[in-house]
Amino acid sequence: MITRLVEDHARTLAADAHLPAFVYDLAALRDHAAEVKAALSAPGAPEIFYAAKANPDVPILRALALYVDGIEVASGGELAHVREALPDARLAFGGPGKTDDELELALNLGVERIHVESPYELSRLARIAEAAGREIDILLRVNLASDRSSVVLAMSGPFGMDPELMDTCTDTLTASPHVRLRGIHAHLASGLDATAMAAQSAEILAWGRAWLDRIGHTGPREFNLGGGMAVDYSTPGTRFDWKQYGAEVAALAEPGETLRIEPGRSISVYAGWYVTEVLDVKKAHGQWYAVLRGGTMHIRTPVTKQHNHPFDVLTGNSDGPTVADEPVTLVGQLCTPKDVFAREVPTDRIAVGDLVAFSMAGAYAWNISHHDFLMHPKPHFRYLDA
Ligand SMILES: *Cc1c(COP(=O)(O)O)cnc(C)c1O
Repeated sequence: MITRLVEDHARTLAADAHLPAFVYDLAALRDHAAEVKAALSAPGAPEIFYAAKANPDVPILRALALYVDGIEVASGGELAHVREALPDARLAFGGPGKTDDELELALNLGVERIHVESPYELSRLARIAEAAGREIDILLRVNLASDRSSVVLAMSGPFGMDPELMDTCTDTLTASPHVRLRGIHAHLASGLDATAMAAQSAEILAWGRAWLDRIGHTGPREFNLGGGMAVDYSTPGTRFDWKQYGAEVAALAEPGETLRIEPGRSISVYAGWYVTEVLDVKKAHGQWYAVLRGGTMHIRTPVTKQHNHPFDVLTGNSDGPTVADEPVTLVGQLCTPKDVFAREVPTDRIAVGDLVAFSMAGAYAWNISHHDFLMHPKPHFRYLDA
């Protein structure tokens, strides 16, 4: 799964003693984003706002800017960062627990949509917008209940509002001319394939239209259908079926409606690799281990998702310990049994000095990790552009 560009660069990094490193293939990122955009180009198909929290690195944001319609940010920090990296980008601001300072920042930095998560947040935003003499367009985030037991990560919890709580927002909206309700936002689950995601989008649209009708909402309407498009770490070669999703959802749109999605992981995950090298190979209690430079303090993804992270072994020149034709557990340098990248993976051969390139490291990798634990050196970062 490793691209030629990344493999060649990995060997250069090894020669320069610059491992571990996060290596991004920006050409691959652009190609993927262009495919996603093309699949969503039919009339009625959703706009794409990339969820910056998946990977907010400036070169990633800039590479994506041509192919997405905007960026979704989930904190004041992300907001300031993205505004600086992409001064002209259309921005949507979501997330629970927005402070007054963050709401003010959103008004000052020209956020296009705020996704309001509670009646109290709405009343604070109304007060702040009025005091600033500014108008702001919002979507109300709804937390629809339904059976999501089969999804990878249901967004249950304090995200958005139950339908009954949504109803309590109408008085504030009527009393607050500075706050304009444009429609509905829902991000309900993560890890859905195209069929399930399209069905969920239809559910959100049906509920949202009925609710907006009921409260007497007039004018053009928007529906942000969320992110969470499936990424399968066990099959790095397969991708979410954007063509199917794009076609099914475009067919759902009615005249006067704007649809929008905000995927993160499924956009950037394939463009990043965590490249490192084997420091030691040994057997402990009958189990083979390869100890790698670095660890899950750099890429916490396999720990949070409890999966075997996909990887390629690039043969180095080693005369050190080697294991062949045995299952091997790949671990890092941390003094904890949880520092595991992949457990008992059948491996042809792995030796001290080999390079290991973990693929699918372009999202929720470095930026969700506990970098300072054990005080090992930080990885290097390379953003390759063919
Ligand atoms: C995290 C998040 C996303 C992106 O989810 P992915 O699984 O990365 O696609 C989109 N919207 C909201 C509100 C989120 O919290």
